[in-house]
Amino acid sequence: MNTGHPASWYAATANAFPALSALATDTRTDVCVIGAGYTGLGATLELATRGVRVTVLEAAQVGSGGSGRNGGQVHTGQRNDQAWLEKTVGRDDALGLWRMSQDARAHLLALIATHQIACDFTPGMIHARHRKGGEAQDAAHIAFLRKRYGYDQLAMIDAPDLAAELGTEVYHGGFIDHGGGHLHPLNLALGLARAAMSAGAVIHEQTRATAWRREGGAIVVETPTGRVTCDQLILTGDGYLDGLAGGAAMARVMPINNFILATEPLGARADTIIRSNAAVADSRFVVSYFRKSPDGRLIFGGGENYSPGFPSDLKAFVRRHMLKVYPDLADVKVDYAWGGTLGITVHRAPYVRQLAPGVRVAAGYSGQGVMLAPWFGKLLADAALGDPSGVDLLAKLPTPPFPGGRLLRWPLTVAGLSWYALRDRI
Ligand SMILES: Cc1cc2nc3c(=O)[nH]c(=O)nc-3n(C[C@H](O)[C@H](O)[C@H](O)COP(=O)(O)OP(=O)(O)OC[C@H]3O[C@@H](n4cnc5c(N)ncnc54)[C@H](O)[C@@H]3O)c2cc1C
Repeated sequence: MNTGHPASWYAATANAFPALSALATDTRTDVCVIGAGYTGLGATLELATRGVRVTVLEAAQVGSGGSGRNGGQVHTGQRNDQAWLEKTVGRDDALGLWRMSQDARAHLLALIATHQIACDFTPGMIHARHRKGGEAQDAAHIAFLRKRYGYDQLAMIDAPDLAAELGTEVYHGGFIDHGGGHLHPLNLALGLARAAMSAGAVIHEQTRATAWRREGGAIVVETPTGRVTCDQLILTGDGYLDGLAGGAAMARVMPINNFILATEPLGARADTIIRSNAAVADSRFVVSYFRKSPDGRLIFGGGENYSPGFPSDLKAFVRRHMLKVYPDLADVKVDYAWGGTLGITVHRAPYVRQLAPGVRVAAGYSGQGVMLAPWFGKLLADAALGDPSGVDLLAKLPTPPFPGGRLLRWPLTVAGLSWYALRDRI
């Protein structure tokens, strides 16, 4: 359960944002949005800008879910690669999904520019191979995207150049995506919330939605402190999605925990690490991902667990992963370490569905929501206003239940995930 912002480097450097009051009375609105992360805020901003009355219910604080805790890495494309999408939904829909991801990127950058969101967006995203081999696959991937989708932002990096760029020799080459990048995730969320409130949206923090039902022609959302009556309901939550979206969603979106640290400022040493200031993600099944902060810290994500609760010594837990990549940083102090929860699905495709007339959910970004989720929020808003084409396309993506259903999915999936995690060590 989300209990509010953790003691992260993001929280320590967050732009000023007021505490928002909890819902205190029954209220009537056009659209009720559950969850104030990127998805909910993306929907809310779109709706409010178009003159719709929106009320957001957030169980904890704005951006205190995955949206304010993540690695800040901006990826290109959908979470599934285009070759998989072509095989799974056919060439035409795969093309539609690719265009959607490009729209999502343009939308994110436009939101940042239009609403002057100070979130340190920095271009460049490097994918590094942690094992020997794989060079031909990377080259084929780059050629495939260039030829079939006209995407020309990818370029191979050989092992010596990558070592010089990153300041570590542990990788075997990789490629850079000039269309990717990184940003301050919490400040993005707070900026979206500010923009939505300026456009007239009402956001209540510390207000958990506990149930919803259709009543007459409307939808009624229950909270411990009042009820919201609305015409349309948008459910978000990703890894924090609770029973509100129903058993089908719970069986398909599984929460896992992932962890990040921020070192002390590295001073002149920072100049030798990631010289281009891009973000980096490696090819491990449990990905190690890292970047520099504007004040010269290394922000390093690595390690996950699949049980409720975080490791007791998070600094030590993530530091082990960091030292595999940067053994020379053994003398560096870790100032912050925190964890967060994200929703994954069996095939890593997001779960976007209409649950009932006027009720839609989007979750299960499987670790790729920074670029996609604000746009998916916009698509949910479009659907609420009568254009469901975007969410209908997303609903074609297969999201089968995890094996074992709700009760057994944990043991079975943990066994599977742990085996894959073990492979990283081989
Ligand atoms: C450690 C970590 C690292 C990550 N790194 C990256 C990355 O580098 N790049 C990337 O693209 N993605 C990354 N992700 C994933 C990304 O953060 C998510 O995909 C994204 O934030 C999802 O946004 P969201 O709005 O759907 O959900 P969230 O931001 O998780 O927000 C959901 C909100 O719903 C609220 N909520 C839940 N239930 C209720 C209820 N009943 N009533 C009211 N409110 C409720 C929660 O309190 C929460 O605030 C990472 C995630 C984690 C945890």
